[in-house]
Amino acid sequence: MMDKVIREIEKRRDGYVDELAEFLAIPSVSTDPERAADVRRCAAYCRDALEKIGFSTAEVHETPGHPIVTADWSGAEGAPTVLFYGHYDVQPVDPVELWTTPPFEATVRDGSIYGRGSADDKGQVLCHWKAWEAHFAAHGRLPCNVKVLLEGEEEIGSEHLAPFIDANRDRLASDVVLISDSPMFARGVPSLCYGLRGLCYMEIHVRGAKSDLHSGSFGGAVANPAQALARILSGLKDHENHVAIEGFYDKVRPVSERERAEFGRLPFNEIEFRQQLEVPELVGEAGFTTLERIWARPALDINGMISGFTGKGAKTVLPGVASAKVSMRLVPDQDPDEIAALFREHVESHAPPGVTVRVENLHGARPYLAPLDHPANRAAARALAKAFDAQPVFTREGGSIPVTVTFQEELGTTSILMGFGLPDENAHAPDEHLDLENFHGGVLTAAWFYEEYAHNGK
Ligand SMILES: [Zn+2]
Repeated sequence: MMDKVIREIEKRRDGYVDELAEFLAIPSVSTDPERAADVRRCAAYCRDALEKIGFSTAEVHETPGHPIVTADWSGAEGAPTVLFYGHYDVQPVDPVELWTTPPFEATVRDGSIYGRGSADDKGQVLCHWKAWEAHFAAHGRLPCNVKVLLEGEEEIGSEHLAPFIDANRDRLASDVVLISDSPMFARGVPSLCYGLRGLCYMEIHVRGAKSDLHSGSFGGAVANPAQALARILSGLKDHENHVAIEGFYDKVRPVSERERAEFGRLPFNEIEFRQQLEVPELVGEAGFTTLERIWARPALDINGMISGFTGKGAKTVLPGVASAKVSMRLVPDQDPDEIAALFREHVESHAPPGVTVRVENLHGARPYLAPLDHPANRAAARALAKAFDAQPVFTREGGSIPVTVTFQEELGTTSILMGFGLPDENAHAPDEHLDLENFHGGVLTAAWFYEEYAHNGK
């Protein structure tokens, strides 16, 4: 079955770069109101492309923001159904003068294609389009049922995605969600990401006197909010970098032996990592490796602090207020609302005398973890091994991809994160690019994935 599909891919391969260039030429910058018509044009482009590939129903759906594109092919009776999710919008291009070639005129240099959206996410979306096209061309069908969901607001927070999913549960019902919108661990190391951290973002406001005071006339007799804040902040972690908030670790799922072994196998060089950052040493929670600290353990960081006089020269002031923003990266099964409540309790009960403290919950996101042995993860691992001729690794990420949690909550469906970008391809920065070998490897992987999952899925 796959011989014919691979032959179709080989036959068409030379045209893929031009097709990607055409997709990249549409400046679908979702955050820029002046590009709204281009975003819309890009949605129509996606619908037409999916129709041409062979999807019976491809549609553009209006939302209060940018449109959502769906498509559906359900001719594989008895086979599982994959919901493919991607986004057709892109980041802004500023500062445009730092681009070597114009961001919307894709250019090939040194084995990579340069252009806004090449890695994030149009190039990765196209891998799947070309895989479906090859299957349709070879056999007139796909190995399993495929639903497609492409949004135009990923880069601006996906505001209208959850309501759309909620209103279209039947249309989107599937056995698994497949996303290709993340980097591989390193060149030549195909990867499957199965865990993402969540977030709890707080702000602490400390107030002392009714206004700033003269530090000569009042210093020593009135509490200083900046110092009070510093005391609160320094008490958030102990000397071994454990978070000192009572109950903070209660729901943290321990790193399993298998994960420790998987992480240990990764080509990660701690010395290089440290040197790249130009830090004298790496510091984190005692008892864990760097990858474990970033991927599988929660972390607490002060994101910013404001108080008193910060201009040039000296001004003898005793500040009236001080504030700090603090973010906590969460891991399963921590809950952002519960952590926010624990944080508030801790900060309020540790407030020094003479000041009032107010704690604000700014933003939260749930952590995400897919079972390593999910049939689709196993199928994806086999597909990657075949296409890249290398054993794939299982990784987690320190950041968040909120849409995975949306799919989990709205549809009860696990997401598989199979990315073909590289960590240094400047997604969101000037000179964004995608390695063409990985792009072609991505088409092959996608082609294999649907076949593998169809026969060994569920
Ligand atoms: Zn993306």
